[in-house]
Amino acid sequence: MAQHPGVGPASSAWSHRFAEELPELVTPWQADVPTEPRPVTLNHELASEVGIAPSTLQDPEGLRDLLRGDGSAVAMAYAGHQFGNYSPLLGDGRALLLGEATDKRLDIHLKGSGATPFARAGDGKAALGPMLREYVVAEAMHALGLPTTRSLAVISTGDTVRREGAKPGAILVRVAASHLRVGTFELAARASDPDVLQRLADHAISRHYPEVADSDNPYLGLLDAVVAAQADLIAQWMSVGFIHGVMNTDNMTISGQTIDYGPCAFLDEFTPGAVFSSIDHGGRYAYANQPGVGLWNLSRFAETVLRLLSSDPDEGVALATASVTKYEAIYQAAWRARMLAKLGLPDTTADSTLVEQLLELLDRHGADYTSTFGELATWLERPSAHTESALWTAPEWTAWLDRWRDAMNVAGLEGPTVASRMRQVNPTRIPRNHLLEEALDAAETGDLEPVHELIDAVTDPYGMRPHPERYAAAPPPGFTASHQTFCGT
Ligand code: AMP
Ligand code: MG
Repeated sequence: MAQHPGVGPASSAWSHRFAEELPELVTPWQADVPTEPRPVTLNHELASEVGIAPSTLQDPEGLRDLLRGDGSAVAMAYAGHQFGNYSPLLGDGRALLLGEATDKRLDIHLKGSGATPFARAGDGKAALGPMLREYVVAEAMHALGLPTTRSLAVISTGDTVRREGAKPGAILVRVAASHLRVGTFELAARASDPDVLQRLADHAISRHYPEVADSDNPYLGLLDAVVAAQADLIAQWMSVGFIHGVMNTDNMTISGQTIDYGPCAFLDEFTPGAVFSSIDHGGRYAYANQPGVGLWNLSRFAETVLRLLSSDPDEGVALATASVTKYEAIYQAAWRARMLAKLGLPDTTADSTLVEQLLELLDRHGADYTSTFGELATWLERPSAHTESALWTAPEWTAWLDRWRDAMNVAGLEGPTVASRMRQVNPTRIPRNHLLEEALDAAETGDLEPVHELIDAVTDPYGMRPHPERYAAAPPPGFTASHQTFCGT
């Protein structure tokens, strides 16, 4: 392997435990290393965290070394239900696992690094726009405090890829707790060697849920833990108005991190049925459907571990059913607590329909989801300051504000206290669709200033630093109705 100060020692400190423990689920492969790679965005802090000296990523030689890794990269195999239909073999068609940064056991992964044996008809490449989109949204989610894979770098390859015209090519370097997916279990459960599934489950337990290893039934502990992690994750998505867009089982992690930012979007106007993805014709992955899809995906996961739960098939089904049935209550409790916190209220608040009624009013009056919480905090601070929007001038809104005031009184909280609690949990800067579109369009023409400015704004979601006002503003009228997002494949 080529020597380069910083990168050599970092990659030589990687381990390859997934590939060693589950050789049936990987294919050794190498990245197509571009001759003139250039850094487009670099996450210095994250690079240092995984033991890569950020300075080495500034020049082509260091980038090439990173992409080569230590020569032990693999493409991971997985299956998955896509829009409800089972695909027996998907796998990393254009991605590679370089290794695991040893002390933290974080995957270092490439996306857009060339066709692998799993590529089928795909070119194995990625365009700059979608890779920057994933970089920005994942880092925004992290800054919001949500479990997510992270973005280390977007590297331009200097090549051109064909996607409705010629686009600049790029590689995303991603860091994740792991790349174990529900789809990985779906593949392992159908492997001819029954041992693969058990080894995979043991690997997942040791990596993500070591606390269940010594329980009476560790595999039931694993299922319970994944159900709880996903219920909590999806509750968090809902509370920030995030739409994943392509919740196929191969895009759902065992760790509970959000993964694979493709046609994702944040709500502007609150619309429960919102769908932005150009390929989601039936609205399967609409905003309000996400909790239900999460349960559907977890049921597919539960099916894969049935025979590990018990040697008695009936008992296995009973245990799995009981585990998955807990999802609803965990989701509801997590969602309610987060939504009440957005209103500055404790999760003991007795008014059980206050949140639902708020959302119904936002929907009815086309109010912007994120901005409304800021306006509510401002109203508590300065009751005369409210806007003249349809929501704020609606008669039923005054009645809702009274109910909210009552809930504050019951909790013994004064308006200014509630307002300051709200400011701590309600973001003002999220990667809104119009901001992303504008920044990514500029990046494609070679102007990187807007995307860097956007990253700076959305990684400071609660507005601790000054940013141009437009990063906190709703889109221009008419934008949302016509907006579509794309998978970026
Ligand atoms: P995704 O929709 O990004 O989760 O990808 C679904 C499947 O398609 C995965 O197996 C990917 O590796 C594969 N895939 C997506 N884009 C490409 C591409 N450009 N070349 C090869 N495989 C791809
Ligand atoms: Mg995927």
